[in-house]
Amino acid sequence: MHNTKEESPTEIVLVGGGHSHVEVIRRFGLAALPGVRLTVICTDAQTPYSGMLPGYIAGHYEAADIHIDLPRLADWAGVRFVHDEVVGIDRHARTVRCASAREMHYDYLSLNIGSAPRMGEVAAADSPAVPVKPIRHFRRCWLDLLQRVCTHREPSTTIAVVGAGAGGVELLLAMQHRLRREIRASGRQPEQLRFHLFTRSPQILPTHAARVREHFMRELAARGVVLHLGVEVGHVRGGHIDTGNGASVDADEIVWVTQAGGAPWLRDTGLALDPDGFVQVEDSLRTVSDERIFAAGDVASLVSGPLAKAGVFAVRQGPILAENLRRASRGEPLLRYRPQRRWLALITTGERYAVVSWGPLGIAGRWVWRWKDAIDRRFMARYRELPARRAA
Ligand SMILES: Cc1cc2nc3c(=O)[nH]c(=O)nc-3n(C[C@H](O)[C@H](O)[C@H](O)COP(=O)(O)OP(=O)(O)OC[C@H]3O[C@@H](n4cnc5c(N)ncnc54)[C@H](O)[C@@H]3O)c2cc1C
Repeated sequence: MHNTKEESPTEIVLVGGGHSHVEVIRRFGLAALPGVRLTVICTDAQTPYSGMLPGYIAGHYEAADIHIDLPRLADWAGVRFVHDEVVGIDRHARTVRCASAREMHYDYLSLNIGSAPRMGEVAAADSPAVPVKPIRHFRRCWLDLLQRVCTHREPSTTIAVVGAGAGGVELLLAMQHRLRREIRASGRQPEQLRFHLFTRSPQILPTHAARVREHFMRELAARGVVLHLGVEVGHVRGGHIDTGNGASVDADEIVWVTQAGGAPWLRDTGLALDPDGFVQVEDSLRTVSDERIFAAGDVASLVSGPLAKAGVFAVRQGPILAENLRRASRGEPLLRYRPQRRWLALITTGERYAVVSWGPLGIAGRWVWRWKDAIDRRFMARYRELPARRAA
């Protein structure tokens, strides 16, 4: 499977600049693979780090703090960067098709494209609802929302968040923190802002420990957030949210942070998908359907046991994916990725304060926020402060 010097290089194509692929690129920069050409195709030139998104919304970070400059990283690593969106795979011809109509050949392909929002199924086109992903769209929507709320002349503004996992809760608290500050600065009362949080499950943060949930239940109550537990949002038309039980809520702004699914175009690839449309992979991160295609991060669904959709897993999969792409291109046996049983989540509360969620533990404090900030900044620095490369 590997090439001799005279042959054309083995083409490894990375689709998406997610948390796993940035590590594959970095490792390629540290130790290039002879006879291999690596290409990354991504819709984002500046790829966002969602762990810092709530901090950006809250006003603690600038946009530049939460993005990795993919062309710069790729250039440093000797990787070709293509700014495009992949919309299909022809597995027979071994090509990917891009939105620009460009087609690219691959010998090995890896998908790290995150998840796609599913809001379209319930929200009508005239509704103000915006999904949190893709983050580049959301960032633009957020800046518009900020502007609208600050210039809103009605006596009150209602903001609804649909989805009460860690992302939804964090995002709501971050928006509230920031909007209250902006409203105060414009001479209005922060009480004019009303917040609603919807979740279909009977409790918020369902995958976290009771202590973590209790902390956030207190926090949301203290901040006047109206909770709608066990509510399956039926339809959203205009700003009208039908809660499915005869009641409804009118909101000026709606943000969608529910569990998403795999990108719709994956259905046409013939790759085996799980019921949510994510690509099924073996423990090696190779797809169960095609030995030339790998997947990592949110888009990958391990057949040996599905994982929560969290960036920590995508980050941990990066080194294994890098090594297995190298091994696959040489026809060597692949390594197994073994997910950690417990994973650390540091959930922020809007201001510079956060809660540790680790197994049954739930500990809160300002120090937790500083700890998270240090972890996040260290992660970003890996892809910014690039060491000098050895001459090839
Ligand atoms: C508000 C919020 C906060 C969160 N905080 C945390 C946290 O603190 N810790 C944590 O572990 N998890 C967190 N998560 C979950 C986390 O966002 C995801 O699990 C993580 O981003 C998944 O990473 P990924 O590498 O799979 O994909 P992503 O980070 O989504 O990256 C995918 C990349 O691929 C690009 N792409 C997508 N489709 C295509 C295509 N067709 N062609 C080319 N490029 C494409 C995208 O533009 C993007 O750049 C949070 C989520 C949200 C919504």
